[in-house]
Amino acid sequence: MAEPAPGRLYVVATPIGNLGDISARAREVLARVDLVAAEDTRHSGRLLRHLGLERPLLALHEHNERERMQAVLGRLRAGQEVALVSDAGTPLISDPGFPLVRACHAEGIPVSPVPGPSALIAALSVSGLATDRFVFHGFLPRRPAARRELLAGLAGETATLVFYESSHRIADSLEDLCQTLGAGREAALCRELTKLHETVRSAPLGELLAWVGSDPDQRRGEFVLVVAGAPQAEGEDGAELDRVLAALLEAGVSLRQAAAAAARLAGVKRNQAYRRALELQDGG
Ligand code: SAM
Repeated sequence: MAEPAPGRLYVVATPIGNLGDISARAREVLARVDLVAAEDTRHSGRLLRHLGLERPLLALHEHNERERMQAVLGRLRAGQEVALVSDAGTPLISDPGFPLVRACHAEGIPVSPVPGPSALIAALSVSGLATDRFVFHGFLPRRPAARRELLAGLAGETATLVFYESSHRIADSLEDLCQTLGAGREAALCRELTKLHETVRSAPLGELLAWVGSDPDQRRGEFVLVVAGAPQAEGEDGAELDRVLAALLEAGVSLRQAAAAAARLAGVKRNQAYRRALELQDGG
């Protein structure tokens, strides 16, 4: 007898806070599949009930992923359709699912995305920082020494940096960011996106640290930190920018006015000139 054609794994994004963000296609796929493999079956059960759906659920999380994955692969090999969901956002983005997707590829089982929310892209899109090149680092290490070491290694990275952070460590991480990248580096603190207490604040790291330190409410909930990349290595533009900025600052022109004028003269973006002016003022 011929082997059954393999089924399909759907990697389904779910809301990061606002249930209205579930897509029509996510709903349709969740209604249809034979099994929903979920990071937390109680959490995803609530989402399914909210959608008026009842589907068989199987827990697949960080701690049982490799063992449970065999059960999921068995279903897929038998021709069934399975949806993979995590507690919030897009599976595999700082969430379980990587070994399962790898195994599907190795076995020739089709994998389809059902795209939708992810805190990473949501934060980047409202950060006001460059989006053309970015590096996503997920969660920073919990141990302070490891965190500082990682950040020190990123000090020269010119792409925008994106980190996930929890309420327990947001203040410590901001402090380490200030120390390693400089308090003047532009950043955006994105908290509780799409939820009741959504806050997006764009400011230099030092200001964000002071703000979070002075208001306990700003340390609650879930966070994405988006941090501007380091200024480009000194090219001709850089040398010209430095020369003009230094002359203006020395003449007593305000930081903002110096940045605006130097940006025009050196042909660079105003925020780049402002960042560099801050560095020069700090003695960089
Ligand atoms: N897979 C998810 C995604 O695509 O965004 C991320 C899962 S990760 C375990 C959870 C982290 O994502 C949180 O600690 C927080 O850093 C970030 N996050 C999730 N939802 C968020 C929200 N509504 N606002 C801000 N950050 C959020």
